[in-house]
Parts: sequence; C-alpha cells; structure tokens
Amino acid sequence: MTQPLVKVENLKKHFPIKGGLLGKQVGAVKAVDGVSFFINKGETLGLVGESGCGKSTTGRMLLRLLEPSDGKIYFEGQDITELSTGEMRKMRREMQMVFQDPFASLNPRHTVEKILEEPLIVHGVKDKAERKRRVKELLEVVGLNSWHAKRYPHQFSGGQRQRIGIARALAVNPKLIIADEPVSALDVSIQSQVLNLLQDLQKEFDLTYLFIAHDLGVVRHISDRVGVMYLGNIVELADSEELYDEPMHPYTQALLSAVPIPDVEHKKDRVILQGDVPSPSNPPKGCPFHTRCPQAFDTCATVKPVLQEAKPGHYVACHLYE
Ligand code: SF4
Repeated sequence: MTQPLVKVENLKKHFPIKGGLLGKQVGAVKAVDGVSFFINKGETLGLVGESGCGKSTTGRMLLRLLEPSDGKIYFEGQDITELSTGEMRKMRREMQMVFQDPFASLNPRHTVEKILEEPLIVHGVKDKAERKRRVKELLEVVGLNSWHAKRYPHQFSGGQRQRIGIARALAVNPKLIIADEPVSALDVSIQSQVLNLLQDLQKEFDLTYLFIAHDLGVVRHISDRVGVMYLGNIVELADSEELYDEPMHPYTQALLSAVPIPDVEHKKDRVILQGDVPSPSNPPKGCPFHTRCPQAFDTCATVKPVLQEAKPGHYVACHLYE
C-alpha cells in the first residue's frame, strides 16, 4: 500500500485551566483527546461533529498553528511535530488552510493583489513580474478576473471572497488543503458553487483535502471518507457512502437521523438526543457519549471504547461492536 500523505497518531490538545492565587494548573480542557487517522494522496477526508467537538483544533494542529499536547503528525512520512519553527514555516508551503470567514481572514486594507502576493513573497518568489503573473493566473483559476486584483475585500460578495481565500491557499502550490467550514458562512445558493470549485481544483492540481464541517450534508457531497468527532474523539470513520448508508455508532445514527432525506425508502426514525454535550474540561469516564447514548449499558460508564475496524475500512468506537 502506498504511504498516506498525512498520518496522525494519538493526537491530543489539552488546554490548561489555571486557578487559585498562584495561577497553578487546576485542570485541562481536553479539546482533542487522542485522535488517529490518515489521508491518502488525492482524497478528501471529511471531519464532522457539533461545535466544540475538536475538529477545528485538529485541523489547526496539522499545520501546527496550535501545538499538540501529545501525539504525532506525519506528512509524506516525515514527523512534523519534531520540526523547528523555521523548518515548519518552509513545510507550510505544502499545507495551506482555507478559513470559514473569508472576510475576517483577508486584510481589509490590502488589495487582492497584495493579499495574493504575500504568500509568494513569504515563500521566496522574488521576481515582481513573476508574482503579478501568478496573481493573474490564480484569480482566473478560482473563477475571478484579473482586473479584480486592484480591488479590496469589501468590494466582493461572500462567495467571491471565499474564492480569494482559496486562491491565497493555492498560491504556493500546496499538496494539502485544510478547509475549516469553508462554506458555512455562505448562502446556501452559493455553497454548491464553492464546493464544485474545490472539487474541480482538486482534480486539476491533484490536491488532498481535510474538509471540516458541522453540516453532514455538505461533507457527504465532497468527501471520500468521513470521520465523526464527539468530545475530542473520533467515534466513527468510514467511506462516505458506507457511513451514510450504514452508520454504526449511535451518535452518527442520531446525527444522520436529523438530516432531511428526500428519499422515503431510506428515511430513518429521528433520534432525539437527551441532554447537552458534556464539558471537555470534565468529560465523562468510560465512553464519552454514554451520558446521552440511547443504547448505553453498564460497561459504557466505566470503560472507554477504542476505535476498531468493525468491517473492512469501517472503524467505530463502541462496545456494541466488540
Ligand atoms: Fe453508546 Fe456504549 Fe456504544 Fe458508547 S460504547 S456509543 S455509550 S453503546
């Protein structure tokens, strides 16, 4: 089997909680609590879950915009958790991010030309004419016009701004793009245009995506495989079609039952989850989902299930399948 582009092993991010007069650490918010997965070259892995489940923190750790508390991240077989700041800066040429809110991530005082030139300058494209040529090319690639280069972010619509965000991510020819809720801030009518653009670019430039979203419908549209996160853990991971047709984990089943499906034959009874997601600063013992799981039994409250391959390529962390 070929080596995956990205491999993550037991990745954790615990944010310390300080308290008392001396500001000592009195606890930790376990935002990500030991996730493992891989992404093959050219594929899209979707990561879904409710807000606060740790999916965005995971994405940021892959770029080391947040330092992991524990665990390993391999990019093309190289352990990038060991890289120095300078080495990591060079490595970011290979891995770029597209953010949820393009307006917040684009400097409002800079023209689009300046915004797109910036990553080129950072990564050593010294020739000005070469940069101008590349900016023009990038705008065309994302469906904008070269004369848009002289405009400012506020002069564009939300969808166009996200196209600029995508162009900026593409500027230095990365291999991996981490797209963190890239269409959540956009009108539904614009969402599919941006998703189609991402898919076209993937084919054209042989890109690999980690696609983070809370909306299961959006993730299905674009992902080859999907991982479902709950309270800092991946609870299920499978091929996209398999996960949607045969969800195994009770949490995935509940999430999917809430997605409107026009196809009557495949309609599932709505599962209403009781209670709120527990705080990641005080996660439940045993299975993180046991406080809300309609199928919980005694063992669930004491023993944490590990993510295991229940069917070929279909991983689930649940005692029901052991
Ligand atoms: Fe529910 Fe138990 Fe499975 Fe957790 S391990 S999802 S509580 S049945």
